[in-house]
Amino acid sequence: MNGRTSGQGTLRAEAVERMLAHRAEGPLRGLYAGLVCDLDGVVYRGSRAVPGAPDVLRQLVREGMRIVYATNNASRLPSEVAEHLSELGLPASSPDVVTSAQAGAAALAALLVPGSRVLALGGQGVSAALAEVGLEPVQPARSASGAPPAAVLQGLGRELTVQDFESAARHLADGAVWVATNGDATLPMEWGLAPGNGAYVTLLAQTVGRDPLVVGKPHAPLYQASVERLGTTLEATLAVGDRLDTDIAGAVAAGLDSAWVLTGVHPPSELLRQPEGGVPTWVISHLAELEQPYAAVLRSDDGYTCAGGWARATSEGLDLKPGPADPIELVRAGLAAALDARGSGLLTGVGLGEVAAQLDALLSGSRSG
Ligand SMILES: [Mg+2]
Repeated sequence: MNGRTSGQGTLRAEAVERMLAHRAEGPLRGLYAGLVCDLDGVVYRGSRAVPGAPDVLRQLVREGMRIVYATNNASRLPSEVAEHLSELGLPASSPDVVTSAQAGAAALAALLVPGSRVLALGGQGVSAALAEVGLEPVQPARSASGAPPAAVLQGLGRELTVQDFESAARHLADGAVWVATNGDATLPMEWGLAPGNGAYVTLLAQTVGRDPLVVGKPHAPLYQASVERLGTTLEATLAVGDRLDTDIAGAVAAGLDSAWVLTGVHPPSELLRQPEGGVPTWVISHLAELEQPYAAVLRSDDGYTCAGGWARATSEGLDLKPGPADPIELVRAGLAAALDARGSGLLTGVGLGEVAAQLDALLSGSRSG
């Protein structure tokens, strides 16, 4: 992948080193001035708040932390997202929300002269973001008249028609700049998975024979736009998210430290499945741990420790001694032991499956509900 020459073992060894490289003298919040927070799986799950998350975020704001919420969702307006957050007890207004549509519009504003016409291939969020940066959003149905659009900004729009995609294909064939808000292949629905923006991007890419610039996570521009909104530096900003392949990989791409919070879709064992995608700086089981002293992982003669917890991997699974440690501390020690053993080839197949089950069981109580 990506022309990398290192073997998987090397990459996993790097993952362990990265986990061991970071120390915090106290709570993580003390290390950062700004937070770029993911939404689904971190602040809410579906329509309900993740228990305790709004309280922690309110407390962090009281303590002077600047927070923005960064979302790949390009169809909702920032004001709609802010309203949803307020309903969950988290006072937020539009400037606290950075959408991938806004990141896409910002990327286009940097390339085009002010007032340029841009085909808004998406929902309301896409048109609004373009207008906000001084570009002229053009609806696909009207794009045949007037000057041809200089660019196409593509985000999910559930009202889009086949003719709209034909208009876009026509302008792209004529050389229009092409930016996509995000490449998420699927859109979770009540009943399962619907095609996401990435699926419609692929459709156009196959038609026109090239690919767009994609700005949403796991690419850097959405995070860069978020840091700009915060007014902080990269070093003083922490990205928080629940997905390794988008939130954490995006933070790595943008050069941000990241906290992987285990309240969302990815259980601890996901790091064993895809350590190449991005290794988080910190691993926490809940946002509240941003306010608590962070125990780092240490290598010992016979395994790995974290606070009072100890873990060692064998070919059959993990030996774990919880001691007085919190479950998350045992998870950190267990992840380091497992990544190490996987990197050295000690842990494969059945043993790896066993380790994944052991790690996920450590947090099963706190992840449900
Ligand atoms: Mg998420």
